[in-house]
Amino acid sequence: MTTHANEVENWLSAFELKLSHEHRQRGLMLVISGPSGGGKDTIAALLDEEDPYISRCITATTRGMRAGEEDGVDYYFMDKDDFLAKRSQNYFLETNDFVGNWYGIPRGPVEEKLSKGIDVLFVIDWNGARKLSKAMPDDVVKVFLLPPSMKELEKRLRKRGTETDDVIKRRLEQGKVDISHYHEYDYVVVNDDLGSVLRRMNRILRAERLRRHRQPWLDGFVNNLLK
Ligand code: ADP
Repeated sequence: MTTHANEVENWLSAFELKLSHEHRQRGLMLVISGPSGGGKDTIAALLDEEDPYISRCITATTRGMRAGEEDGVDYYFMDKDDFLAKRSQNYFLETNDFVGNWYGIPRGPVEEKLSKGIDVLFVIDWNGARKLSKAMPDDVVKVFLLPPSMKELEKRLRKRGTETDDVIKRRLEQGKVDISHYHEYDYVVVNDDLGSVLRRMNRILRAERLRRHRQPWLDGFVNNLLK
């Protein structure tokens, strides 16, 4: 693209973003899944940073707070009794028991953002994505991130440098199971080049934000047209 075409594209996207937001009354839930190392966190962080109308969901957990973590920023930290009591009161959209700790998505903050027209971003596995779709079928938009190849996935896992060889092997095997669920998703994006993935994610968001059922103002508008 020429520089000029780039400028037009940037201007258009800012304009459309503002326009679609002003007319919108309800946000959407953007769910990103994919194998470990597939780029979910990288892309979620970029979207969260670059798009003023999307905000990352904060999960509640019963696991201990790690150094540098902040309550209400990284997680909502809860003790197990409190978590289980809230769970039985339908406080969570979905919960998950993972290696002895509970994780859950509190319904209230998500509902609040959606009702203000803010989109909420979730990085979650296919199992959680299924549960979220069931809980909020009209709000969820699911995107699956595929690696360009298993070789590249392994390279990225190694580059991240947070896991031992054994863990990487297990993650790659688990990754194949995750990948086999790609057909449960609305969109599938191959994470080849980050800039291009971001552009594709923005297009998905722009189109999904314009869907009729996310623009309740249309009813009044059309009624006026037909008067
Ligand atoms: P996930 O959250 O899916 O486990 P990460 O976002 O942690 O994956 O990405 C795994 C590693 O791959 C990170 O080191 C990240 O910087 C790198 N990475 C992600 N996407 C790309 C890409 N398109 N090109 C090159 N490296 C990437």
